[in-house]
Amino acid sequence: MSDLDPRTRLQLLDELREIVGKDGCLSSAEDLLPYECDGLTVHSGLPTAVVLPDEKGQIARCVAACKRHGAPFVARGAGTGLSGGATAVESAVVIECSRLNRVLEVHPEDRYAVVQPGLINAELSEAVKPYGLFYAPDPSSQAACTIGGNVAENSGGPHTLKYGTTTNHVLGFEFVTPDGESLRLGGPTGFAEGYDLVGAIVGSEGTLGIVTEVTVRLTPLPEAVETLLAVFPDVVSACRSVGRIIQSGLVAAALEIVDRRTIDAVESSVYAAGLPRDAGAILLVELDGPAHALPSQIETIREATMAEGATRVDRARDDAERDRFWRARKGAFGAMGRLAPDLYVHDAVVPRTKLPEILEKVCAIADNHGLKLSNVFHAGDGNLHPNISFDRRDPEELRHVLEAGHEILSVCVEAGGVITGEHGVGLEKREFLDLVFGPDDMEAMCRLRRSFDPDNRCNPGKVFPTTRFCMEANPKARGYDNVPL
Ligand SMILES: Cc1cc2nc3c(=O)[nH]c(=O)nc-3n(C[C@H](O)[C@H](O)[C@H](O)COP(=O)(O)OP(=O)(O)OC[C@H]3O[C@@H](n4cnc5c(N)ncnc54)[C@H](O)[C@@H]3O)c2cc1C
Repeated sequence: MSDLDPRTRLQLLDELREIVGKDGCLSSAEDLLPYECDGLTVHSGLPTAVVLPDEKGQIARCVAACKRHGAPFVARGAGTGLSGGATAVESAVVIECSRLNRVLEVHPEDRYAVVQPGLINAELSEAVKPYGLFYAPDPSSQAACTIGGNVAENSGGPHTLKYGTTTNHVLGFEFVTPDGESLRLGGPTGFAEGYDLVGAIVGSEGTLGIVTEVTVRLTPLPEAVETLLAVFPDVVSACRSVGRIIQSGLVAAALEIVDRRTIDAVESSVYAAGLPRDAGAILLVELDGPAHALPSQIETIREATMAEGATRVDRARDDAERDRFWRARKGAFGAMGRLAPDLYVHDAVVPRTKLPEILEKVCAIADNHGLKLSNVFHAGDGNLHPNISFDRRDPEELRHVLEAGHEILSVCVEAGGVITGEHGVGLEKREFLDLVFGPDDMEAMCRLRRSFDPDNRCNPGKVFPTTRFCMEANPKARGYDNVPL
């Protein structure tokens, strides 16, 4: 199972058990199986072991043990990633942070908190609500995903449009390098001397080391919130209305589109919220800010959506209805489990003005491949999520899913877009990096990676395609070619 020789593997397991205790080190085949992949099920790989540290010093010791034995390792949060980032390549040791799940400090006046990396995203906002604060990045997976995973992926969410992605809300962290050394980078003020290594590590997909403690910015809860639901005959006119709203100069907190097939799946599921089943698409709009400013913004939304063919605009009557709308939106991926056994969630970004034409092309690609497509996405950011429901046990269907994915990314890049908005490159898109980067760009990024991890043991096989780019500085290090997928 392991790429390590059997004797080294046994020695490593002994050391890991000594660090995290027997119940904190999983190594039997049945215990490892749940860790064979993340939310991207088309790639899988069994780890040598999964360790569950419950104290940050144990992370550094586990990483140091891996170094001594030449073993690769990969950090894991909740495993909700959608690009294979936390999947173990080369039987890497998985270092899972879920037991490090506490809010350590809250400083309401200075508006920051210090948290452990395994803290679940939604629990942070819940913990600071009594202070009139919240943590702004809200991935749709926020009921499960962790702050450590969010930092690694620079996660966004429906409210990215107004509040930005994770990188705008991380002030600093403690970090273990692939050598097992602990560093403290950045800090509560958000200003740091020297190079901005916090900025470089956020979004590096766990390839530079492991975040063991995070200092996050907290944001005041808005005085008032309004949630509107505009009903459209089709998804293209909903896209056009997004362009019109942005052009009006109004900064909405969220602009999310949900298409007919998604509405059907949601309304047949436990997330049902009374969404109109006869709609071709809906645009979910959230406005927040001072109470006196919102009525005129509501009018702007009404005018912009009606001008593009909305048949009506409903307003959430109270918090309960608002929560229902958001539960429906955020539960949409779960609801798609009703359509087929597997779901491939694509992620790409295009300039917002291109949304209508790209949506048409994406639908045509899915039709040409005979695939079942649904769309639910962060329209305000131009961040598409074409979702393909399929059955991976059918190799022919899987082939079409992968080919369609490549075509979708290609049309997005041709339109001036990028290949991921928030899910990362991981295993999934490393072969597509050359759609957006030239060899010099990749070499520059790989130089940074090598300076942290010259032996290529930290989440190997992720982000970059081949040895060609990342291994020249240390030809003895483990290569990226022939990575078992
Ligand atoms: C239903 C659903 C909806 C989603 N919606 C969104 C969305 O709206 N926006 C969005 O951005 N994403 C979304 N995602 C994707 C996913 O939830 C995010 O990428 C999330 O940040 C992953 O967090 P995790 O704790 O599950 O990390 P994992 O999947 O466990 O790991 C993700 C990456 O982070 C690395 N990592 C984990 N912990 C650490 C650490 N402590 N230090 C260093 N690296 C670490 C791993 O090595 C891996 O590369 C969604 C996923 C699902 C299933």
